[in-house]
Amino acid sequence: MPVDRLHKLRRVIAREGLDGLLVSKPVNCRYVSGFTGSSGAVLVSHKHAILATDFRYIEQAGHETRNLEITRTEGDLHDWLPQLVSSLGWHSLGFEANHICFAVHRQLKHAIRAKQLNLELIPRTGLVEHLRSTKEPGELELIVQAANLTDAAFKQARTSIHPGTTEKSLAWEIENLLREGGSEGVPFDLVVASGPNAALPHAKPSDRVIGQNEAVIIDMGARIEGYCSDFSRTLCLGRADEALAEIHRVVLEAQLAGIRQITAKLTGAEADQLARTIIEQGGRGEAFGHGLGHGVGLEVHEAPRIGPNSSDLLIDGMVFTIEPGIYVPGFGGCRIEDVVVLEKGRVRVLTESEKTVEVIQ
Ligand code: ZN
Repeated sequence: MPVDRLHKLRRVIAREGLDGLLVSKPVNCRYVSGFTGSSGAVLVSHKHAILATDFRYIEQAGHETRNLEITRTEGDLHDWLPQLVSSLGWHSLGFEANHICFAVHRQLKHAIRAKQLNLELIPRTGLVEHLRSTKEPGELELIVQAANLTDAAFKQARTSIHPGTTEKSLAWEIENLLREGGSEGVPFDLVVASGPNAALPHAKPSDRVIGQNEAVIIDMGARIEGYCSDFSRTLCLGRADEALAEIHRVVLEAQLAGIRQITAKLTGAEADQLARTIIEQGGRGEAFGHGLGHGVGLEVHEAPRIGPNSSDLLIDGMVFTIEPGIYVPGFGGCRIEDVVVLEKGRVRVLTESEKTVEVIQ
């Protein structure tokens, strides 16, 4: 584990007044420990840093982690956790309330009562997520690699779209390009949404044949050593009709306003408003029903949130998307999305593909 992360987490645990913290969400375990297995938990106090996992992952845990004690567990969380934590002398254990489900929490409470342990479970949210929201240089480098790979795959896919292509076949072609370029799978189900399907922000690729003069929203991303990119463009085979051209112009203007004007020290809500204003002025405010963006890292959606209700403070080192969209039921839609990083108070764009709408055949 990067020792620095352990220091930071220990400061958080002290600030929260906890004896220790149970990190159970796999992506947070990975961040804190380096362990990429799907079953395990990390326990951290001012003195201890323990990775607890079962037989299947013991060897892997030894390879992937440094500076952690490794404990082999038997059974479910409630079978071993209360006893282990009590033996360390902890009386207050923070846990990730957005990950430990109700049933597991109840089992833990039962076990603590049955064993008559002096241990309190204290719900916390967002502690590790907050640390993850600002990226270290090594993390940024991996996101840049994922962004470059996305750009390259899009560039190639753009030249090969032709009348008669279905949404599904284009999505599969893009996925192939990403995988062959070195992406670890794809970080989310790719979106290829044409014509009226483009009105659905998270449409699934269908057997629909992409027609002339209609919108095609492509939303794609790559993953390198766990780190994601997230990227959208809206294309059209041949000439975009007036309505599509107008929507595209407004979305592009909003997106560029976000890129130019978002600065450090704004809240997520203030950043969102900079782009939303343009769409509202274009008379399409109602058709932009999602937030302007979200953090990107080990997860494709993570902190910070950039949307109308977000009080998240934007600071240097944060990586997030800027992705305004307009969606018109029955007609289609447009979204343009880049991954950016905040540096010296300003936005630097990591995905560089061109944003023109038309693909002349
Ligand atoms: Zn996104």
